[in-house]
Amino acid sequence: MNEYDSRIIENLMIKEGFTPSKDANNADIVIVNTCSVRGKPESKGIETARSFKRKGKYVVLTGCTAQQRSEELLEVADLVVGTREFQVIPNALKKKLDRRMYLDLKGTCDFYFSGRRTNKVLEYVAIQEGCDNFCSYCVVPYTRGREVSRLPEEIIKELKYLEDSGVKEVTLLGQNVNSYYYKGADFADLLKMVDEEVKIPRIYFTTSHPRDISLKVIRTIKDARYLKPWFHLPLQAGSDKVLKEMNRGYTKDEYLEIALRIRAEVPEATISTDIMVGFPGEGDEDFAETLDVVKKVQFDNAYMFMYSIRKPSPIYFKNKDISIDDVKVGVRLRTLISEVNKGIYQRRKLMLGKEYEILIYGPARKSPKYSKGKTENNITVVVPGAFSEGEFVKVKVEKIIGLTPIGYPLNVLASLTNDFPLNRGG
Ligand code: SF4
Repeated sequence: MNEYDSRIIENLMIKEGFTPSKDANNADIVIVNTCSVRGKPESKGIETARSFKRKGKYVVLTGCTAQQRSEELLEVADLVVGTREFQVIPNALKKKLDRRMYLDLKGTCDFYFSGRRTNKVLEYVAIQEGCDNFCSYCVVPYTRGREVSRLPEEIIKELKYLEDSGVKEVTLLGQNVNSYYYKGADFADLLKMVDEEVKIPRIYFTTSHPRDISLKVIRTIKDARYLKPWFHLPLQAGSDKVLKEMNRGYTKDEYLEIALRIRAEVPEATISTDIMVGFPGEGDEDFAETLDVVKKVQFDNAYMFMYSIRKPSPIYFKNKDISIDDVKVGVRLRTLISEVNKGIYQRRKLMLGKEYEILIYGPARKSPKYSKGKTENNITVVVPGAFSEGEFVKVKVEKIIGLTPIGYPLNVLASLTNDFPLNRGG
């Protein structure tokens, strides 16, 4: 979402005559778009702003941290702009407006796509803003405001613009996409509309809320042409007691039912998740429930974190003095990562010997002689050979190294002799 917002801000600035600098150190104005989902990115955003201010830059601080910490940030920034007011930035700079803070959260869902510069391969389109869920650990409803869904016609218009620009992959964004609703159209209706009217090769969405995802959505993905089968379904915790404290609105069994239903209805679908450990009051028996879900679902990918207390989340006011045993939580996190990786490895092994179409994102991290890309269901695959960004390459997965599948291009495989050292498995 932040990446998308940054692109919107960049485009608004260009539209008003500002020129982007390749290096922030050479710029006159530095815009720092912040995230406050956890403690670390929040302090990193503030420190970045502070260091540019010290260098004498005009600093604009925007995003969730700006929205939440407002006035105190005037010390590190010249202009503080919240999550629904970034359209004021170019004008505030050009007209030298007196105000130094813009933090209104009542703004409409207006995303200013017209004429925007696009990435070649991967783009985003917001379909809603804000969230009404009030999970007890989360600041989003306070930093991004209440949920507003965007007009379906506007979403299609932006997608068509990206299609005409040659973009290969788009992710539809929202804090809780499954609760999308606009004048009678729910999320599944929107997805059907998108699949019928837009011809971008790969369209994904995130984030799904396990409480709100419907069978209608799952079946829409199953029957779709351009919407691809990847579900990001944050678990957060496996214990009913912890889930209740988190105000997540589902139980462990309900989560398992949805995840296993996705596996049954759309066998090629992948499921990724977010899990946190060390939520206040989480005992060993609660953590064991999380591990149990991990074993049963076998996720294809997971983001795992230690709980980080966030102000002004509801749990902060209830439990702000709670001391968390970092060592114990650290052990839990390592145990979790190891269990999740076992599941991922089992899932990756199912890819051996199968053919996939890979969308190339760029060179692999370790060597330019290899490219990295993704399958339709959003699994990163390394491909021998230097392919261009945005190219589609048909491969057969012949090896798994660590958790990474290695896919050999079919045309290369066809020309190989039997003694080519393809060591399956490993
Ligand atoms: S669903 Fe919960 S965790 Fe996600 S943004 Fe909304 S309040 Fe935060």
